[in-house]
Amino acid sequence: MRLSSSLASAGVLIILLTVSSFAASDAQLKQMKDAADKVLADTDNVRASKNAGAIFDYASALEVLGHTNAALVYLERGLVYSPWRLEEQLNCARLLRGAGRHQSADEKARLVLQRAETDALLARSSEMLGQPFVGSLKTEPWPDARPSLALVPIGDVDVWLVRTLQSNLISSFRIPVVIRQPTVRLPAANRDPVKVLADRCREPLKKSQFKSKAGDAARRLSLAPSYMEDDAAVLKVFRQLLREESENKKDPEALRQFDEEVQVTRKLGKQWKADEVLAETSRALSGELPAGNAYLAITRLDMFAGESRYVFGVGDSRAQGAVMSYLRFTAALLGQPPDRERLSKRAYKQALSSVGFAFGVPRCSHPVCARAYPNSLEEHDAKGIELCELCEQSFKKALNPKQ
Ligand SMILES: [Zn+2]
Repeated sequence: MRLSSSLASAGVLIILLTVSSFAASDAQLKQMKDAADKVLADTDNVRASKNAGAIFDYASALEVLGHTNAALVYLERGLVYSPWRLEEQLNCARLLRGAGRHQSADEKARLVLQRAETDALLARSSEMLGQPFVGSLKTEPWPDARPSLALVPIGDVDVWLVRTLQSNLISSFRIPVVIRQPTVRLPAANRDPVKVLADRCREPLKKSQFKSKAGDAARRLSLAPSYMEDDAAVLKVFRQLLREESENKKDPEALRQFDEEVQVTRKLGKQWKADEVLAETSRALSGELPAGNAYLAITRLDMFAGESRYVFGVGDSRAQGAVMSYLRFTAALLGQPPDRERLSKRAYKQALSSVGFAFGVPRCSHPVCARAYPNSLEEHDAKGIELCELCEQSFKKALNPKQ
């Protein structure tokens, strides 16, 4: 058995460096300038892009000290290496406006307004362009018409996405779709995905053919003999063995995939059992969900079910409901350039699938139908946003039971 075959691949992630807003001392400022200049002098563009955070940190420190012109110079230079940092694009737009360069400022704000995936960035860019942005959801009463669908936001969700789904689902199904916001009391998170990943790495390390190699690697990494009890240490040892295997075979792909998976997993936060989220939402809606109607809960929390590492959504016609998570569709998690249209499509396909389950529409086996089961985000992206004929018919039957 190859070590690299023990793990499936995952998406890519770039760690977004956070910008500090404290006033730096002279010595700190000098250190930050040196770090920023070092990146700017780097002739390796890939490495410079990876380390561009140092340029933005210095620009931020300069701005805090009131050196806005110098801050702008560094921001613009940093964005040459990292143009997809929309937060920095907006900071740059703000400083450009302050410097009287209104056209360039608006151009940047428009870019953010077009591409951003979060309410926070959309609100800021809208404000900069003098455009309205609705950042909150209004609870709407259940309509008399049946069937109707309610969208139920769970936790911190992006309002623009819920509103976009609402209008898309209204046009698709031609039934009323309203927003309901009952108090959903979520249970504590069920598991830590970093621990789940470490457990998957532990399995092969315990096997006889890797055990002594793993022990040697742990010693070389100066880890305690009890390293197997520590998740971070297990990941380090696994990576070390994978690295040696990659070097021997001159194939860096497995190592690259592993590094990506670790990075994405660390960004996920905790995971909730999808069935429990569904059950709690049903409980919160109990007494107000008329027969024939259904709900779709939307969350950013990561979810899993049964033996799966994660799920995009689950639904149950007996509960007249479904729940979907869009966290794994976001550019921030995957390290992709932000693309609101792409996020919107990914979420819409999942919504069609989940709403189908809530209304009792059977599973679909057509690979490009929006409701086909995807084994990965790649498969999800490969699907169209249209329903296959069978799903169309099943929806018609489910939503017009008298026909
Ligand atoms: Zn289908």
